[in-house]
Amino acid sequence: MRNGRVNRIQISAAAFHLHFGRVRLDCGVEEFVDIQCPYCGQNCEVVIDTSFARQRFSTDCEVCCRPFQVAAECEGGKVTSAEATVD
Ligand SMILES: [Zn+2]
Repeated sequence: MRNGRVNRIQISAAAFHLHFGRVRLDCGVEEFVDIQCPYCGQNCEVVIDTSFARQRFSTDCEVCCRPFQVAAECEGGKVTSAEATVD
């Protein structure tokens, strides 16, 4: 069906914006937090989906571009802790 194809394009466009962290979504589950890069020590802005109580994901530092892991905990739509780790 044509409608299904259009929906898929819209979803990938949203994911594209999310990746670069430039667009705040209005649905209220995305929280922007500053987290310290374990490599260069600079603060990087990362997007955390507060609909998950616990999550872990990889991101790249905005400053030195090196990948690190973010472990986050959320409660009631707010980020209660966010920690950068290196494997
Ligand atoms: Zn860095």
